[in-house]
Amino acid sequence: MHSYEKLLLENKAWAAEKVEEDPEFFNRLSHLQTPEFLWIGCSDSRVPANEITGTQPGEIFVHRNVANMVVNADVNLLAVLDYAVNHLKVKHVIVCGHYGCGGIKAAATQIDFRPVLNMWLRNIKDVYRMHRDELNGIKDEEERSDRLVELNVQEQVTNLSKTSIIQRAWKNENRPDLHGWVYGLKNGIIKPVFEMKAGTEIDELYKYDGL
Ligand SMILES: [Zn+2]
Repeated sequence: MHSYEKLLLENKAWAAEKVEEDPEFFNRLSHLQTPEFLWIGCSDSRVPANEITGTQPGEIFVHRNVANMVVNADVNLLAVLDYAVNHLKVKHVIVCGHYGCGGIKAAATQIDFRPVLNMWLRNIKDVYRMHRDELNGIKDEEERSDRLVELNVQEQVTNLSKTSIIQRAWKNENRPDLHGWVYGLKNGIIKPVFEMKAGTEIDELYKYDGL
């Protein structure tokens, strides 16, 4: 059997198990999804949103990319955010990074990963530059990288607040709250590191008029 064929076999077993637990499970989900959360996580295979939060299909709307970035020109991310906020009406947006993130480590080196990876990692290098003094003061390499993971999550949550999508929803509907979390690969525990409740004051420079 090929490795991918095992996935299809496991899928059949999973679907059968779900129906056994709850005969209406797929019928219900096929008609409606009303997730309360948007998850922006890292593509890393070790950080599956549903599994680590004990949630089921239908509970979390998910976007994942390398190092859980919120890049202001990323149409993919913005389309997901727009749909989640304006159509699904999510109450919370969670940016979840993880300690030991390969993307974060790579961005802290001088290695040329060639386009397109260089382009993507540049966004993380910018986060490093903004917090250079604090980061350069940490002697242990792993500790420094883990702190960059936390600071990156904080910056990406802040980037969400700079979008007109979030500012408009905050003004008109007082939601969603924005959360910055970091998952520990070594212990499976999620640590909240940053939060911006709906309506939090942001830097004037990024505020939009007449929303
Ligand atoms: Zn990662």
